[in-house]
Amino acid sequence: KLQADYATRLAAHRDAIQLNPKLFARIEALYQRRAALGLGAQEQRLIERQYQQFLRAGAKLDEDGKARMKAINAEMAQLGARFNQNVLAEVNDSAVVVDSVEELKGLDEEQISAAAAAAKARGLDGKYLIALLNTTGQPVLAQLENRALRQRVYEASVARGSRGNAFDNTALVSRVVTLRAERARLLGFATHADFVLKDETAKTQQAVNGMLRQLAPSAVGAARREGAELQAVIDREQAARHQPSFKLAAWDWSFYSEKLRAEKYGFDESQLKPYLEMRNVLENGVFYAAGQLYGLKFKERRDLPVYHPDVLVYDVFNADGSQLAIFLADLYARPSKRGGAWMNAYVDQSGLMNQKPVVANHLNIPKPADGKPTLLTWDEVTTLFHEFGHALHGMFSNVKYPSMAGTKVPRDFVEYPSQVNEMWADWPSVLANYAKHYKTGEPMPRALLDKVLAAKQFNQGFASTEYLSAASLDQRWHSCRWTGSRRPTA
Ligand SMILES: [Zn+2]
Repeated sequence: KLQADYATRLAAHRDAIQLNPKLFARIEALYQRRAALGLGAQEQRLIERQYQQFLRAGAKLDEDGKARMKAINAEMAQLGARFNQNVLAEVNDSAVVVDSVEELKGLDEEQISAAAAAAKARGLDGKYLIALLNTTGQPVLAQLENRALRQRVYEASVARGSRGNAFDNTALVSRVVTLRAERARLLGFATHADFVLKDETAKTQQAVNGMLRQLAPSAVGAARREGAELQAVIDREQAARHQPSFKLAAWDWSFYSEKLRAEKYGFDESQLKPYLEMRNVLENGVFYAAGQLYGLKFKERRDLPVYHPDVLVYDVFNADGSQLAIFLADLYARPSKRGGAWMNAYVDQSGLMNQKPVVANHLNIPKPADGKPTLLTWDEVTTLFHEFGHALHGMFSNVKYPSMAGTKVPRDFVEYPSQVNEMWADWPSVLANYAKHYKTGEPMPRALLDKVLAAKQFNQGFASTEYLSAASLDQRWHSCRWTGSRRPTA
């Protein structure tokens, strides 16, 4: 409720600043004289950014244009808040209820007890609840042997947001795209994509579409070859059982990929998990790599108040012992939490304000039942390293103005530090430092470790196609031109 209320008020507040003619006149005057003001590089950059941001907000529009801009921003703020609330409500509403434990074959003991506890929490004693993660892919699809249940989980996952219920987002998405197209037109751009890209490092739609066109055919080709291999596994398995074969479907992909992975590389994900205990991965993997690379040291703090008991807090020190930042790790999924994984700066670094950064990583790792260890999938390990790359970007910030701190860089640059940090996850000396059995402390056997590394390209056709198709779809939606009618044309 607060979000919906404040989203509109904050949008109006931003417009009151950025569409204020007197303020803009002052900024424009400074912008035009910037070369003669004897400014340092940071001040010069600040003026250029501020000027650009006012322009992009509509500072040069006439009175009618400004009024329309304010109305668009107010409506978009409302729609944005409703969209997020629908997504969250839908995640909780769309959990899959399972009647019998037999159907859960393939899940491990911890997952089954967590599913029973989740059902009980909703008053469904004796049943099982498979909570959906806020991503299209659902990790349990790799494990569930019951094909009909896999189909139910998959269909529940992809139907979210378009089920015609109270949380349906389809009309809302269409309206947002229309408003974005209209706003772009108002600001002199052909499409929303052009408006956004002007301020990114890619600059143009041609650059983005060219990159997508270059990558997509190879990715799709590789995914088709992977699909054929999976079909062969299905055919062979069904023949061995004297059962008719079936055509590989979307809900089969993860499940048979795991079988094929086991066949090709002699391991499956579940063999890895005991070596990937969460805190061990964080402290002896992620922090260790940052220590080796940048000399950082981490010390847990328990004296600071946190917004949830599961949040871990660390002081982060430079090699010389001076404090660099405070780092928060909020790693478990909760019903009230947004899906996915992200980094957040709660306090921006700023020389002007004499502030050191407070930076957090948020993940959605399923919380095990009480007393059970949190064992990560390889994907979650990679995500942890990835998000910590963003955290490093925030913590190493060394600027005067908070508006330029940390990750406040073009969106299409911001993934660079995180992608780089991901590569340390399987760096042999780093992996050897954290991949230890949670019970015995024994290191992950070298042979298993080598298999992990050898399997890195496995299923990459699918993984690349998955994100490239999402990127292409997004690009296509936002290439609509506003024609003055209610509907934009593609
Ligand atoms: Zn990222």
